[in-house]
Amino acid sequence: MEGGPEGEKRLRTEGLWLKCDSCGQIIWKKALDDNLQVCPRCEHHFRLDARTRLEMLFDGGSYDELDAALISTDPLHFHDSKSYADRLSSMQEATSMSDAIICASGALEGRPVNLCAMELKFIGGSMGAVVGEKITRAVERSLAQRVPLIIVSASGGARMQEGAISLMQLAKISAALMRLDQARLPYISVLTDPTTGGVTASFAMLGDLNIAEPGAQIGFAGPRVIEQTIRQKLPEGFQRSEFLLDHGFLDAVVKRSELKHYIAEALNFFCD
Ligand SMILES: [Zn+2]
Repeated sequence: MEGGPEGEKRLRTEGLWLKCDSCGQIIWKKALDDNLQVCPRCEHHFRLDARTRLEMLFDGGSYDELDAALISTDPLHFHDSKSYADRLSSMQEATSMSDAIICASGALEGRPVNLCAMELKFIGGSMGAVVGEKITRAVERSLAQRVPLIIVSASGGARMQEGAISLMQLAKISAALMRLDQARLPYISVLTDPTTGGVTASFAMLGDLNIAEPGAQIGFAGPRVIEQTIRQKLPEGFQRSEFLLDHGFLDAVVKRSELKHYIAEALNFFCD
């Protein structure tokens, strides 16, 4: 630590500013908070944590969290560089969450909805039995209450530490969503940076509307794996929202500032 007024000044301003990943602009953190974590210069969308996402989408930022206590049982007693049980407990401590998703109910522009938001910071937003069960319960609540469902994805895919059990969640959630479809209740999928692997391969692409934030990475396998497999250079912007929209994989790319109203309008269209 440096002494003198110069050192004090440096110490006090530390952490108040950050550099935009995309354009390099130095941004005041408070300005970024006020702008929904979007760069005021280039509109780069920074990643949002699940709680901020829910606060942004629910009216008045208030909602009822559901199934918050569900935790993984570590069915395989899995070990990699450390035990899965230890990994889970340190993640639970760091994020104050039981697993990689928050499911909630509340109102969006006055309409009751069920809304789930994934948390990338919790083991890469990976989907294990808890994420699968919580989403399935959210679908079942939507069925029972006859209200729309919205899922905001941010995930690296299936949770490797739960092996085949994590893969079974793809089928489980997909089957639940089919019942929602048969009941003619809308499901809107919002894909955010990044949405990959088994999440893209299941519920993230099964919405009545699949919409993404600008510049989000969305795909199944990573670009390096694809390049090595097909032995071709991938085109510019591959696996980004705008590229996927151009190629018919998405219905819309919607700016964060317009997302809530866009969803509300879509639900008006589906429901009224
Ligand atoms: Zn920027």
